[in-house]
Amino acid sequence: MKPGSVPPPVTQPLTPLHPPSRPPLGPPPVGGPPLIRPSTVTAGAPNTQSLLHSPTNQEGDATSTAGDGSVVQNSYDAIEGGGLMATPHPSAPANLKMNRNVGYSYPALPPGYQNTSPPGAPGVQASALQYPDGSKHFHQPPLGTNHLNASMGSLSLQQEGLRPVNLLQERNILPTTLLQAPVPNLHEDIQKLNCNPELFRCTLTNIPQTQALLNKAKLPLGLLLHPFKDLSQLPVVTSSTIVRCRSCRTYINPFVSFLDQRRWKCNLCYRVNDVPEEFMYNPVTRVYGEPHKRPEVQNATIEFMAPSEYMLRPPQPPVYLFVFDVSHNAIETGYLNTVCKTLLDNLDLLPGNTRTKIGFITFDSTIHFYSLQEGLSQPQMLIVSDIEVINLIKKKTPETFVLILFSNLQLIQDLLKSLPQMFTKSLETQSALGPALQAAFKLMSPTGGRISVFQTQLPSVGMGALKSREEPNQRATAKDIHLTPSTDFYKKLALDCSGQQVAVDLFLLSGQYSDLASLGCISRYSAGSVYYYQSYHHKHNPVQVEKLQKELKRYLTRKIGFEAVMRIRCTKGLSIHTFHGNFFVRSTDLLSLPNVNPDAGYAVQMSVEESLTDMQVVSFQSALLYTSSKGERRIRVHTMCLPVVTALSDVYLGADVQAITGLLANMAVDRSVSATLSDARDALVNAVIDSLSAYRSSVLSIQQPGLMAPSSLRLFPLYVLALLKQKAFQTGMNARLDERIFSMCQVKNQPLVYLMLMTHPSLYRVDNLTDEGALNINDRTIPQPPILQLSVEKLSREGAYLMDAGSVMFLWIGKSCGQSFISQVLGVPNYGSIPQNMTHLPELETAESIRTVAFISWLREQRPFFPILYVIKDDSPLKSSFLQNMIEDRTESALSYYEFLLHIQQQVNK
Ligand SMILES: [Zn+2]
Repeated sequence: MKPGSVPPPVTQPLTPLHPPSRPPLGPPPVGGPPLIRPSTVTAGAPNTQSLLHSPTNQEGDATSTAGDGSVVQNSYDAIEGGGLMATPHPSAPANLKMNRNVGYSYPALPPGYQNTSPPGAPGVQASALQYPDGSKHFHQPPLGTNHLNASMGSLSLQQEGLRPVNLLQERNILPTTLLQAPVPNLHEDIQKLNCNPELFRCTLTNIPQTQALLNKAKLPLGLLLHPFKDLSQLPVVTSSTIVRCRSCRTYINPFVSFLDQRRWKCNLCYRVNDVPEEFMYNPVTRVYGEPHKRPEVQNATIEFMAPSEYMLRPPQPPVYLFVFDVSHNAIETGYLNTVCKTLLDNLDLLPGNTRTKIGFITFDSTIHFYSLQEGLSQPQMLIVSDIEVINLIKKKTPETFVLILFSNLQLIQDLLKSLPQMFTKSLETQSALGPALQAAFKLMSPTGGRISVFQTQLPSVGMGALKSREEPNQRATAKDIHLTPSTDFYKKLALDCSGQQVAVDLFLLSGQYSDLASLGCISRYSAGSVYYYQSYHHKHNPVQVEKLQKELKRYLTRKIGFEAVMRIRCTKGLSIHTFHGNFFVRSTDLLSLPNVNPDAGYAVQMSVEESLTDMQVVSFQSALLYTSSKGERRIRVHTMCLPVVTALSDVYLGADVQAITGLLANMAVDRSVSATLSDARDALVNAVIDSLSAYRSSVLSIQQPGLMAPSSLRLFPLYVLALLKQKAFQTGMNARLDERIFSMCQVKNQPLVYLMLMTHPSLYRVDNLTDEGALNINDRTIPQPPILQLSVEKLSREGAYLMDAGSVMFLWIGKSCGQSFISQVLGVPNYGSIPQNMTHLPELETAESIRTVAFISWLREQRPFFPILYVIKDDSPLKSSFLQNMIEDRTESALSYYEFLLHIQQQVNK
C-alpha cells in the first residue's frame, strides 16, 4: 500500500454522537461545543487577489530542502528526534519528504527561520479507530463524530456557531464575559482527555480535510502554544522507558489506539508499535496489564524525567550573569538601586541549587569585570577598554568572574550593596553595549545560562554601535519607518549565544530612542525576553519603579529551563512551516531554546500537505526537552486532538476567532518587517474581507443584505480593527518607534490570552460592584462585573470604569461619579480633589473599597507582568490613551467599528 493511501474501514464505529439536538436558536455559544453540521456540497470560492491567501504556490514549488543536508544539524536533534526506546532506533525515515512552501503570501522567513516540515514517515493508515477484536479493556470511543455526517445528511440542523449574523445590525456582539476557546467536536470521552486550550490551541478546531478546502475558507491554519506555562497540577513520570513511536518519535499519548495489550498504533504516523514490558504495569493503580490506563495515556499534558540518553553532556548548572549599564545616563535614571535591591531581596529565591553560579559585568565606554574569587575579602574590579575585552577573557578563566552563589553569598551581597554607589560621580556618557555583550558571551560559553542586560540608551562605542534612526516628524507615516535592524551584529551574537546554550534577556529603560529594532535581535534569536520601561526615572516616573520591582521579582524567581529544544509534530498529511516566537530554528523543525520561561508564547503556521482522506481526527504534539534549575533533564509533552471535516461550513463552525487573530497578528509583524506596515495592515483587512466573502458565496444558501458572518467569526472584524489600532500596527502620531517595536515583540512572544487583552482591552463599570456572581477564592470575594463594549457610548458621567489593557489599566472617573465611590474607594472628598497622577487605590475599610481593590488585585495576579493603574479624570493628560483604546470609536486616523464594517461590506459585495 502506498503511504498515505487508506484501506477501506474494517469496522464502522457505531458509538453514537453526543446529543445532536442542540436547540437551533438561542444565544450563540461562547464556549459551548459546536456541533458538526451535516455535510453539504459547497461551491468553490472564487480566488480573490488576497494578500493573505495567495493562490500561487499552494501545491508548492518545492523550495526547501529535505531534513538533512543543507541545514545545520544541532546535536540535540539526535536527542529529541532520535531517542531512546529499548529497541534500536530505526534508520532515519526513508521517505523524507521534500518540503513544500505553502499558502500565504506572507513573506519568506528571515534567515535562520526555515520553512520546513517534519519528515514524513511510512505508516499504516488508520482504518477504524475501534478495534472490537481487542480485549474489552481496550475499547476506545471513536475519536471523532463527523464520520456520521453522511448518515445525518438529511438532518438540517441549524448550528449556532454557523448561525449567520448580520454584523451591521447586531450592535451588541461582545460577550459580557471573557471569550472562551471553542470546544472541539469530539466524543466526550476523548474531549475530556484533550489538552487545555490555554496550553495548546488551533485556529481551526475543525481541521479541513484538504488544502483546497482550507484555501476556500480563507482562514489561516496554525497553532498557538504556551508550552511552559506554570501549572498547578502536572503529572510527572519517572520511568526508564519513555514510550515513543519507532517511526516518528511521537510520545505515547491519550489519542493512540491499542490494538491489543501488546501493540499500540501511533496517532501521528499510524505505525504499529510494541508495548514495552515495563509499560504493562500501571504505577498509579499498581495493576499489571493495563497499559491504556497508564498516566501517559490518560494525560494530554505530562512531564517525563529523561534518562541519561537524553543528555549530550551532564545537565548544566544554573548560571546567571547580570550586565548593567552604568553610564551617566543610566545612573541618572536611578534604576541600578531598584535592580540591585530587588536582586538582593530575591537572591535566595533564584531557581537553582548549590551549583547555581552568578556573575556581574558593568559598562559605560569601558567594560568592568568583578573578580569574585574565593579568599578575597571584597570584589575586585577590572576595567578594560572595548578593544581589550577579548584579550582579557582569553587570559582569565570564566570562573574568575562567575561564582558559585551558595558559597559566596556574602561577597555577592556586598557587591550588590555597593554597586549603585560606585558610579554616582560618573560623567561617562558613552555606551559600549556590544563589547559588554561579547564579554558576557565569552564568560557564559563554557556552561550556558542566562544573561540579563540592562540598557538605558543607544549603544555608541565599539562593535554594535548604533545611530539614531528616528526622525520625530516622520513618526506619522507608515512608510519609511525603521522596523528592521540596522546591523546584524546583535543577531549574529545571539546565534553564537544560542549555539552555546546562552539566552539574553534585555531590559530597556530609556526615555530616548534606543533602536529596539536592532537591540531586540539579541533576545529574539537567543530565546530571551524583552522588557521595556519607557522613560524610566526613579523620581519623575515613580510608578515605573514599582512595575520594574514587581516584574523583576517575577523574572528572577520564575521557573526556568536551560539548554532546551522544542519540536512540534502533527499527524501525517499536515505540515508545519512557519514558527513565531523567540528562538532559533537550528535544524529543520527543531526550535533551539537556550532558556525557556513560563511566560513565553509561540505560534506556528500549518498547511494540509496531503489530503486527510478517511481520517476522523488528527493530533498535534509539542515536546519540550529542558534541564531544570535542579539539574534534571525533563520532557514536557502536550498533545491535542481535533476532528477532520470535509465541508466548508464545518471549517467555519470550528473557527477559533481569538487564535485566528493571534496568528494573523504574528504574521502581520513579519509582514511589517519584510515589506511595509501598510502591507501588513492591508493583509489584516483582506483576511476579514476574504473569509467573509468566501462564507457569503460558498456557505450562505440565501443571499441576504448586510454583512453576514458565521457566529463563530462574529468578532473577527472587531478584533482585526483592534489590531489595526494596536501600537504595533497603528498609524498616526502616537506611536514612537521603540514603543511600536516593543509592541511587535510582545505580539511575537506573549501567550494568546495576553495578546488578546493588549489588543482588545476589557472594560468594566466598577462604581456599582456587587457580590452577585462573584468568585470566592481563599476567603476573598472577587466581583465579576460584565465586560462592556469599547465605546464612549458605554460610559456614563455618573460612573467609574476600569479598562484592563493587559500591561496597563485605566480607572476613568466620570465627572458626576457618585460621591460614595469617590470617598469610599478613592478616599478623597470630591471629584476636584482626585490627584492628577493617582496610581494607587487606598485600601479602605469600606465594602466598596474592598470590592474594587479585590477585583483589581485579582486581575493583576492573573498575569506575569505588573499593570500600572492610572486613575484619570476628564482633564487628565492620559485621557487620550484611554480613548485610544476605545476600539469601536472613530479616531483621527482610524475608522470606527461601524465605518469599518461598511468598508468590509463594500468589499465583500463587490
Ligand atoms: Zn508515529
